[in-house]
Amino acid sequence: MLHLRESRTLRQPSDGSTLTITDITGEAAELPAFDQHERIWCGRDDERGLTAIVAIHDTSLGPALGGTRIWPHQSFEAALTDALRLSHGMTYKAAVAGVPFGGGKTVIMADAKKDKTPALLSAYAEMLAALEGQFFTGEDVGLTVADADFLRDRAPNVTGTTKGGSGNPSPVTAEGVFLGIKAALFHQRGSATLQGVRVAVQGLGSVGYSLCKKLRAHGAHLIVADIDESRVANAREAFDAEAVAVDKILAAEADILSPCALGGIISAEAIPSIKAGIIAGSANNQLARHEDAHLLMQRHILYAPDYVINAGGLINVTAEFAPGGYDRDIAMAKVRKIPETLKDIFVRSDRQRRPTNDIAAEIVMERLRAAREKDERTRQGPR
Ligand code: NAD
Repeated sequence: MLHLRESRTLRQPSDGSTLTITDITGEAAELPAFDQHERIWCGRDDERGLTAIVAIHDTSLGPALGGTRIWPHQSFEAALTDALRLSHGMTYKAAVAGVPFGGGKTVIMADAKKDKTPALLSAYAEMLAALEGQFFTGEDVGLTVADADFLRDRAPNVTGTTKGGSGNPSPVTAEGVFLGIKAALFHQRGSATLQGVRVAVQGLGSVGYSLCKKLRAHGAHLIVADIDESRVANAREAFDAEAVAVDKILAAEADILSPCALGGIISAEAIPSIKAGIIAGSANNQLARHEDAHLLMQRHILYAPDYVINAGGLINVTAEFAPGGYDRDIAMAKVRKIPETLKDIFVRSDRQRRPTNDIAAEIVMERLRAAREKDERTRQGPR
């Protein structure tokens, strides 16, 4: 049980606002997922129904950037753990993608279907404005482009909007995942053709549905599952997809498993029943534990590390910060480098007989170390 001290307060209710923002870094350090986060803020506004956690993991490469997830976690500790794991993943994603940003993430404890009111979003926008300079955000599960636009009208540090921003990042994420799937196929089979290849897609949301469209257009046979029946019905209709129950999708008879829902699903319990030879999808934190990648390797399942293959959206929003402004062609050219990075990771993994996520983490560490050393040299000045 986490004990919150309300001692370090960034913002108290004032001028009619009922929002409090508290630094809970010390308390969060008790959790196993903490992993040396730089700062964690908790925004609370009981009147407007907001409980938001902004986790800032590592800013060695630049200011923290990460989406806002709205999810009805059962406890504050579960929401905080989710935020910590996701912001840690964002540090890794930015480092591998080679963009000058650090890792951050927001988790808002709410049900996006019932609780996402203008009042809640206004309170959150006030929190974001107070964190200007240290944190940028955008869409994630539960937060739509329209919501991002709403926030952008009230806070400057919101990306992925249609208000002078790069718009919805999901189709770009889907394009990166699509190219990554082809890179994985080529590595395993020597051919990247999708004709007749069976792909099991878990989650038919913004990314999953867009990915299905691309896969189907290239001749793949789709097996799909979603907790939202209407999305499954749409995919059956639009892509002639085969539907399976949500608890059957991981073990579906498929060549490729593409997790595009939530994280933690590739676990020691689930791995023995996976039939696909490749795991490549958009979901963040797919592995329940980092070490589970060894089990995948033992079963000769090629795993495309999540934060490498799903970086398209991040690459797209960070293109908004280019000196000349957002240029879609430049952003897409960077997204097309995702399969090259994956190829490099696959080859190194084979040569060194080490899991792909160990190789990816090594690349991250090299880049973070280099940035910290450069920073240190700049601080010390010329000798
Ligand atoms: P979304 O909310 O639009 O879609 C998620 C879908 O998963 C929904 O249709 C939901 O009903 C379904 N789902 C939830 N639990 C499920 C379960 N147990 N079984 C089957 N389906 C389930 O989210 P999204 O933007 O498409 O993102 C999907 C994943 O990709 C998330 O993990 C997200 O963090 C990650 N991601 C998204 C982006 C992006 O650009 N949107 C970028 C990087 C990573």
